[in-house]
Amino acid sequence: MEKVNILVVDDRPEGILAVQAVLSSPSYNIVTASSGNEALRHLLHDDFAVILLDVQMPIMNGFETASVIKTREKSKDIPIIFMSAINQDEQYVYQGYGVGAIDYLLKPFDPYILRSKVAIFVDIFKKKQLIKEQALKLYENEVKAHALALDRLELENLRRYQYLADSIPQIVFRLLSDGSYDYFNKVWFEYTGLSVQNSNGMKWKDIIHPQDLPKLLELLEHASNEHGLECECRILNKHGAFRWHLIRVQPERYGSPKDIKSWLGTATDIEDRKKMEDTQRFLAEAGELLVSSLDYRRTLQSISRLAVPYLADWCSFDILSDDGKLENLVIHHNDPAKLDSAKKLHDVYLCSSNSKVGAGHVIKTGKTQVYQRIDSQILHQLAQDSSQINLARELGDSSAMIVPLTVHGKILGAVTFVSAESGRKYDQHWVEVAEELGRRTALALENSKLYKLSQKAIEVRNDFLSIASHELNTPITSLKLQLQMVKKTLTMNKGGEFPLDRFSKSVEASVKQVDRLIALIQVLLDVSRIQSGKFTFSFGQVNAAELLSEVVDRHQEILVNSDCELKVKVDEELTVNWDKTRIEQVITNLLTNAIKYAPGKIELCLKQEQENIRILVKDHGQGIPKDKLQVIFDRFERVTSNESVSGLGLGLFIVKQIVDGHHGMIEVVSEPGDGTCFILTLPMDPSVKPELNQSGELPAQQNAEESYNSLPL
Ligand code: ADP
Repeated sequence: MEKVNILVVDDRPEGILAVQAVLSSPSYNIVTASSGNEALRHLLHDDFAVILLDVQMPIMNGFETASVIKTREKSKDIPIIFMSAINQDEQYVYQGYGVGAIDYLLKPFDPYILRSKVAIFVDIFKKKQLIKEQALKLYENEVKAHALALDRLELENLRRYQYLADSIPQIVFRLLSDGSYDYFNKVWFEYTGLSVQNSNGMKWKDIIHPQDLPKLLELLEHASNEHGLECECRILNKHGAFRWHLIRVQPERYGSPKDIKSWLGTATDIEDRKKMEDTQRFLAEAGELLVSSLDYRRTLQSISRLAVPYLADWCSFDILSDDGKLENLVIHHNDPAKLDSAKKLHDVYLCSSNSKVGAGHVIKTGKTQVYQRIDSQILHQLAQDSSQINLARELGDSSAMIVPLTVHGKILGAVTFVSAESGRKYDQHWVEVAEELGRRTALALENSKLYKLSQKAIEVRNDFLSIASHELNTPITSLKLQLQMVKKTLTMNKGGEFPLDRFSKSVEASVKQVDRLIALIQVLLDVSRIQSGKFTFSFGQVNAAELLSEVVDRHQEILVNSDCELKVKVDEELTVNWDKTRIEQVITNLLTNAIKYAPGKIELCLKQEQENIRILVKDHGQGIPKDKLQVIFDRFERVTSNESVSGLGLGLFIVKQIVDGHHGMIEVVSEPGDGTCFILTLPMDPSVKPELNQSGELPAQQNAEESYNSLPL
């Protein structure tokens, strides 16, 4: 038990001793003071249960001392018992109570009374102490409970923020001011596949792209609200691929703006957006290049330079030529030193036209092929000799995609993209970009081809205009001459001395020229009708043999004049449903051509073959070169180099339209130096659909070659 302090104040030592003697107890600590001042000093430092204060003291008496005690906060509640001699005036007693005395003892005092009174105050003091202690304890407990509640609240808040951070799709982090790990949300661990240990300290830096790390560290070191708080950088995911992220950080400060405690931040995956932006930029640039030139070799070169390295380490464009062969127009490598190896890989593996893989296959199927990984082992297996095995070793692992160049369903070629050193793997995104580039390139190629064709067409038209004007001019000049002659003769014949039959030759010649003009104009009219879709037919019953004889009759004179010998073989009378005038036009044209281009022996044959009529017109002239056999049926196409043979290059074009209009066929067989044979196959009745045989096929027909070989003459 702690001792209780009791202050005894008396200027006389015997007074103090008397009190000490009475109050002597192990539970009291009697503190003595011989003056008011000394008493006040004690009171400044210690707590007392009661003060026994002598009234009569020099300098500062008991009342004055009591007044000061009562004014002090620390001592104002300490009970004061005044002690005074018995002979003192009663007034002192009242004065004592006036300055705050609790009691008044008169000396000599009764020890028992003194002890009891002091014991009461000591008891009160102790109780007060107890209450104080309890209050303190209570307070302390309350404080503790409060602190606990606060801790719980903070924990709850922390958890709530953690849930919130885990529920958003971005990476959320908190780094300490030195950039070391403090917190990463669930998304970080899911995305990176890292453990907490592997993210600890500065270990997180290991999965930031080396090119972007300095930028990020710089941001952490220097970013402030004035200097931007974000940057873009690539972060490695658990599958080993870097994806672009937008990093945004916010400093947490201690107080002063420079005193950064930590960095709170988010990392948003912007890979897809960035890819999309890059792709759009790439395709826009490609679009500009594709329209910049009509020379498609040059265009493909520019495109390949744009595609490497954005899409590939090297690429090649292989285009189908007119004869169906695959021709490599452009091959471009990022590293010129590796161009030769790339060419070999291209030729041996990727673009061999026979191969079941590679460009040849893509062109056949029209479908993109993607080779995620062409490792040297596969190439090794495909290699056919030791040089190819070495090549396979040299090339190492690569990834490739081959995309068809398709426009309006037509395949023009293929473009091959290969990635090796860059380690790029061709996923769906790259395939889509490559296919879009393929489509745009194919369109540009087609446009450039069409441009060339239109240029050619313009050239042909200009040639035609010059030929046509020449053709029209010749009969007009001749006609004019004849008319001038008639006029001259008429002027001279004023006296009537020339007989009229002198004019008949001129008139006859004029009529021929007019006929020639009419025929030319007829041809032009037919072409214009064909162009405008107004080329119509009027079908009717016709005797095919008669029709042929009529045409032959009309050509007797010209045959004789041209030194031609015509042999005709016609099957018995056959009735057909044709447009008589148009078929006459066809036979006339073929016969006239034979007379014009191959005067000499001409054979004409008409025979029935099942439901069809075959008409063959064969001559023994110079023939037509093989590569021209198809074009002679096109507009304005003339093969002959003999300028003296007139013609517009439209006859066979019109013939073809008439034959098509009869659902027939025209073929030509020709050997240079061995003549030409035109073979017409016309259904007897074009309005009847041919009957199919049991297997659902058209009945077998003698082919043109057989018909040609079985010519009667
Ligand atoms: P044109 O006779 O007015 O030139 P065509 O369309 O009738 O026009 O014939 C096209 C071309 O075909 C001719 O210019 C000629 O070169 C070639 N041709 C047609 N028939 C024969 C033939 N029997 N022998 C050789 N060449 C021919």
